[in-house]
Amino acid sequence: MKLIFATGNKGKLREAREILEGYVDVVSPEECGIYSEPEETGVTLKENSLLKAEFFCARSGLDCFADDTGLEVDALGGAPGVHAARYAQDIARRDGLAEPPDHDFSANIDALLRELQKHPGEPRTARFRSVVTLICNGEPHFFEGTVEGHIAMQRSGTGGFGYDPVFIADEYPHCSVAELPEEVKNAISHRGKALRAMAQWLKENNPV
Ligand code: IMP
Repeated sequence: MKLIFATGNKGKLREAREILEGYVDVVSPEECGIYSEPEETGVTLKENSLLKAEFFCARSGLDCFADDTGLEVDALGGAPGVHAARYAQDIARRDGLAEPPDHDFSANIDALLRELQKHPGEPRTARFRSVVTLICNGEPHFFEGTVEGHIAMQRSGTGGFGYDPVFIADEYPHCSVAELPEEVKNAISHRGKALRAMAQWLKENNPV
């Protein structure tokens, strides 16, 4: 079966293709000639993943899935949460400073490390949470995955994307996720877990 993965992120596409290989042909919006994307106006991960899935489903006429991910840092009261992609902007706006662009991974990490410096001695525990929405035959289905860990004091590693250089997963406590081989990250990641739950649902319900 063919499904659009509503993302322009090449790392996420590789991850989904590896996990769904064999029974889902994962295509990107670009491969279907869709170059626009919706604004993520939802206030929850579920709302954002649903609006992304609906957007690409409506434009392609194909079944579609989308993910939305948040990073919850306990010492920051659960921030950046659903705002993970624009955390540096939120902080700059709060502090009256010039705002960096959207999805500036490096600026987001800088903002996160700076905010955590204000909480010395507090646990740096954190988790990624992903919600995947699959729209299949017009019906939405939701799948969730989380990975527990903590935020490192500084960056390490060059793999992955986003906050990976400062996220230490509980399963691999001696390195950042950016230092893990891609297949190891996929095996433990929040999105990997949600995508495998979706894969299981597809196998059991065989909606093709
Ligand atoms: P998205 O809107 O689902 O793409 O995710 C929001 C933000 O969360 C992204 O801009 C990244 O900064 C971060 N993020 C999502 N997934 C990951 C991941 O697997 N590793 C590190 N950061 C991630």
